[in-house]
Amino acid sequence: MKAANNNNKCPICKEAATEKYHPFCSARCSEIDLGRWFKESYVIAGEKTSKSQSEEDDFDQ
Ligand SMILES: [Zn+2]
Repeated sequence: MKAANNNNKCPICKEAATEKYHPFCSARCSEIDLGRWFKESYVIAGEKTSKSQSEEDDFDQ
């Protein structure tokens, strides 16, 4: 049995994914997703750090 066709679609451009770059259709889309993920996690980490720091400051006082 094969999985749903949805699993074979590139999440970036919605084209059919290729076996080589699964779940993406090409190296380019794979890199786009990687860059996006890295950028997002970097921003979230920065926000979390400054937030928890100010919360800790409030607790200390
Ligand atoms: Zn793609």
